[in-house]
Amino acid sequence: MATLIADNVRKVFPPKFGGQSPVMAIDNITFEMRGHTFVSLVGPSGCGKSTFLNIVSQVEKPTNGKIEVKGDQGGEARIGYVFQDPRLLPWKTVIDNILYVQDGGKRAERKERANQYLKLVGLEEASSMYPGQLSGGMQQRVGIARALSISPDLLLMDEPFSHLDAITARGMREELQRLWNDARAGVLFVTHDVMEAVLLSNRVLIMSSDGVIYKDLSIDLDYPRLQTDHEVVKLQADILEMFETMEEESAKRRTNGNGPSTAEAKTAAEVATDSKASAKAATERAIAETEKTS
Ligand code: ADP
Repeated sequence: MATLIADNVRKVFPPKFGGQSPVMAIDNITFEMRGHTFVSLVGPSGCGKSTFLNIVSQVEKPTNGKIEVKGDQGGEARIGYVFQDPRLLPWKTVIDNILYVQDGGKRAERKERANQYLKLVGLEEASSMYPGQLSGGMQQRVGIARALSISPDLLLMDEPFSHLDAITARGMREELQRLWNDARAGVLFVTHDVMEAVLLSNRVLIMSSDGVIYKDLSIDLDYPRLQTDHEVVKLQADILEMFETMEEESAKRRTNGNGPSTAEAKTAAEVATDSKASAKAATERAIAETEKTS
């Protein structure tokens, strides 16, 4: 398992076109996570969540500040990455997609390991199929099996269920709770869905559209959790309310010219309205789900 230390991390992108200002994607991101923990970064689109994950995985370099990711013995951590779109190689079978990321050991051993992870995600029957023959949910499961098959110390997940239909996504969230429990890896999970963050995480970092961490919350609920559990619905509603206040404050700061400029062409008022609309929709959805099952 890994230790991740983010110390005052800032990322500024150069302007895309002449005459535009540089874009501050994230600013002053400072936190630590250690061991078997599930941390979600939740925030509106464009607030810098993916940029932060890219810095953790060293795809991007921070402009300022420092990121350290260490394995158990203080050595280099193994980092697994699950993307929004599973990014499987379409010309390789399911098992070969998993074998592709394995290093070391004899082919027979690697194959056995790959099969073990396919079994874990319920896809042992699909091992000789090609990605194009699988549903979106099955492809995402292969992506998760592939990431787990390297025995990561830290698993980075970037909105992995956002392209799936609601029923498949719900099943995958339940499955992920079980997989995380068995895998014993730390997870850093990016989402804009508050329900998803509450359901899965024992800690939620709320990011505002200025690219800063607004709140660091512990979610002290037992697993497994269901999205219709009363405590999950209640916490979701509390966090959504927090979101509305946060975006209104952030909109005011930017209107007064006190806040950092963000890249999004959206005006501050639009961001606040979007946040309110999604908060309302999510609360209504949660209430409807609760009524359906009660
Ligand atoms: P999120 O994942 O929260 O939706 P991102 O991290 O993708 O947000 O983006 C944060 C901000 O940084 C956005 O305004 C985006 O347009 C900008 N951005 C991201 N990557 C780049 C890049 N390579 N060049 C310029 N701007 C970028």
